[in-house]
Amino acid sequence: MNKIQLRKGRERSVLKGHPWVFSGAVEGGEAAAGELVEVCDSKGEKIALGWYSPASQIRVRIVPDAPVADLVANAVARRGDFFVNCYTNAVRLVNAESDLLPGVVADYYAGHVVCQFTSAGADARKAEIADALMKFAPGCLGVSERLDVDSRAKEGLKTEPAFAHITGAEPPEFVEIAEGEVKFLVDVRKGHKTGFYLDQRDARSTVGSLANGAEMLNCFSYTGGFGLFARACGAASVTQVDISADALALAKKNEALQHYCGTTMEYVEADVFQFLRKCRDEGRRFDFIVLDPPKFAATKGQLMKAARGYKDINLLAMKLLKPYGTLASFSCSGAMDAEFFRTVLAEAAEDAHRSFQIVARTHAGADHPVSLAFPEGEYLKGYVMRAVQ
Ligand code: SAH
Repeated sequence: MNKIQLRKGRERSVLKGHPWVFSGAVEGGEAAAGELVEVCDSKGEKIALGWYSPASQIRVRIVPDAPVADLVANAVARRGDFFVNCYTNAVRLVNAESDLLPGVVADYYAGHVVCQFTSAGADARKAEIADALMKFAPGCLGVSERLDVDSRAKEGLKTEPAFAHITGAEPPEFVEIAEGEVKFLVDVRKGHKTGFYLDQRDARSTVGSLANGAEMLNCFSYTGGFGLFARACGAASVTQVDISADALALAKKNEALQHYCGTTMEYVEADVFQFLRKCRDEGRRFDFIVLDPPKFAATKGQLMKAARGYKDINLLAMKLLKPYGTLASFSCSGAMDAEFFRTVLAEAAEDAHRSFQIVARTHAGADHPVSLAFPEGEYLKGYVMRAVQ
């Protein structure tokens, strides 16, 4: 096995359980893309195994000394509770580094598993991983993958075609899933990520539980998630706003899947920044506003610009809330931690001349675990806040 030797002192983070070895930490040694290598300290002693990525800044990703199929079986077994409850049939089975499978994401939609392989090591082992998912994921019908991910380009991996089938049955055009009472169609070929924002499952139910009777504005609605939960929980009206006509078309199809209820639904194809200003100018107000924007900061370097973007939309939304109105505000920028995001929200509130109390904090669900030794794995945070007056 090829050896990758680390510079003096750089073994420390590996010994603490951090899964990444950056190119700057490597003293010497080479291997092919995706090859299993021995990671050695500066004296040449083996300290771990890893997958080699010659094209990436993250040169080696640490893996356990175990067959890949066992790691997949363990990740599925840790989610046993999802397969005995009846709340949902859509769950993340493998959450990459935090499940000891670096660069492997596997999302299960009613039996159809859709993966992303974003490290050279994961890409080289996709057939083995797919076979293990077929074998160990309860009721697995087939496995496919999405290649249109930025992080694949950073690894020197191809990003086309966007979707490829790997094994078992091919998924239908739309896979129907359920979260509690609410049903969704998932476009696994063209939808965002692997098709759906599974990471917001807990937040959707938190928002629903607070939306009874509300006139809600759901910004960045995608296929309708938060708005359909609010509808199911008795919101008076829901306005779904997204810039993507495709996302809104699917949101409408999703509405048609639900039980009848009296909630008034409105769909607006618009830029949220402009739409919030328009509401301000028209004097339109809401009881409940959801802000779940795409990632504004991909790197630490973009943090200050991202902070201005978050402050801008939150300030506008805070001004549009009726007395005692609720704002559910999310950030999925990994570069911005929860405390910094809270500071941005506090500044927005100050400029809006309103006071807020936090009524809930949300995180990605239990199927998106974060390794204690890998803070980079935590990206999604949410604050649900009520205006004090
Ligand atoms: N809340 C959703 C996920 C939101 S993803 C859920 O729970 O499923 C972010 C969404 O923001 C995408 O649908 C994207 O089309 C939309 N978007 C990105 N920039 C936008 C903008 N400037 N104005 C409106 N929508 C935007």
